[in-house]
Amino acid sequence: MQTTVLVAEDEESFIDALTLGLKKEGMNVAIARDGKEALDLFEAVAPDVILLDLMLPKISGIDVCKQIRAVSQVPIIMVTARGSELDTVVGLEVGADDYVTKPFRMRELTARIRAVLRRAPTTPTVEASQDMIEIGEICLDTARHELRISDSPVALPLKEFELLELLMSNPNRVMTRDMIIDRVWGPYHTSDTKTLDVHIKRLRGKIEPDPTNPTYITTVRGLGYRFESKSKKP
Ligand code: CA
Repeated sequence: MQTTVLVAEDEESFIDALTLGLKKEGMNVAIARDGKEALDLFEAVAPDVILLDLMLPKISGIDVCKQIRAVSQVPIIMVTARGSELDTVVGLEVGADDYVTKPFRMRELTARIRAVLRRAPTTPTVEASQDMIEIGEICLDTARHELRISDSPVALPLKEFELLELLMSNPNRVMTRDMIIDRVWGPYHTSDTKTLDVHIKRLRGKIEPDPTNPTYITTVRGLGYRFESKSKKP
């Protein structure tokens, strides 16, 4: 399972730097540009760690932190402006695990992310480097690059295979279009989302019992796609 970081930040320059830096570390990045979006994305993508700017539009970082803490122990790192020590104290009081002060070095931030992840209670999820992923009738052998559906081999082009592998490695979790494009086509790919949607359509044609009514790869409107691990059998 790749680490998914939810970045709640409204300053574009920080967003760009953070996104680039975290992706270099092999992490998935979901961006929320205000507090409300942060809460929505928190539910949708189930991040492993949250970088939470204190000063956010719509809902403040403090309130976002409180609301998330009411339902989850996900590690939260507060991002505060230099010198606002009071904010830092409040952030820790409402349940943040750590904080960084702007401006920060990427190396320091990733070290802190890894530290809070080490301390976090591990959720029972799929092993990161497993060779076989089996969900429903679909069995993906990532070592041999083979797909079998109901025990019959199905040929897949490389990108479709990588896309399916990414989705199946993150079952029941929304993968945003940006996250998917980054992982499958690379962070410097200037792909429009149409490329992705076409690949999803082709993939559905091969793995779904009824491609017009998908039960494995579902669309999450306005966000992206999710691989359902409890697929409803027709
Ligand atoms: Ca801000």
